Amino acid sequence: MRVARFSHVGETAYGIVELAEDHGEHPETIAVVSGDPLAGPIHYTGERVLLAEVRLLAPVLPRSKVVGIGKNYADHAAEMGSAIPAEPLTFLKPNTSVIGPGEAIVKPIECQRLDYEGELAVIIGRICRRVPAARAAEVIFGYTVGNDVTARDLQDKDGQWTRGKGYDTFTVLGPWMVTHLGLEEAGDLLITTTVDGEVKQKESTALMLNPIPRLIEFVSSFTTLLPGDVILTGTPAGIGPMEPGAEVSVSVAEIGTLTNPVIAEE
Ligand code: MG
Repeated sequence: MRVARFSHVGETAYGIVELAEDHGEHPETIAVVSGDPLAGPIHYTGERVLLAEVRLLAPVLPRSKVVGIGKNYADHAAEMGSAIPAEPLTFLKPNTSVIGPGEAIVKPIECQRLDYEGELAVIIGRICRRVPAARAAEVIFGYTVGNDVTARDLQDKDGQWTRGKGYDTFTVLGPWMVTHLGLEEAGDLLITTTVDGEVKQKESTALMLNPIPRLIEFVSSFTTLLPGDVILTGTPAGIGPMEPGAEVSVSVAEIGTLTNPVIAEE
């Protein structure tokens, strides 16, 4: 299933997306559901809306945290001039940094270099702590596309990454959550990032240094994960800047494409 969160005639709701490629009876529509799929059971309301007529929102509002993973692809670590970390390198992004498809990424006035980072995002479905890698699938709700926007100069200047990764609009998620991919499929998906149509990143999640089960094991070793928490699994090589006026898109095969404009802070 593809689970979207959307706004339509002033109401916010979740729904199940049906695309033309599914060859179903209702192409390019959303079947509206009641409730929050990350909080409890949902029910079809019987209402159906056209995908083109809604505004898609960030598909999940992380309950407590977004956990980022740094340098999880060898060629990205190399382009940063860094060694490969011995263990997963983690950081936190505040949930107030989350925006959805089509919303503007704002380049802060303090920032000289604003970077995109196309990533696969894992959405946690159950409260959990110390999850063995072999049981990781049990705590995953689904996957979405992420753009881990980074003020590169501030990240470098501060040493700590809180500011450089934590500004409002710096965690882009969408266009919807996909719940039907198994760990094996999620472990080999092509990530493609473009800026104004020019391909900047193109690499498979198969090249992660720490695969998804290991990330869940590691992150849950030090923090309780809640339903709706998000793990950004790291970016492949090819990071680079985005300027105000640009349009950035991140696609993950089998999930979808997340497109946002970039603007300057007024
Ligand atoms: Mg990143």
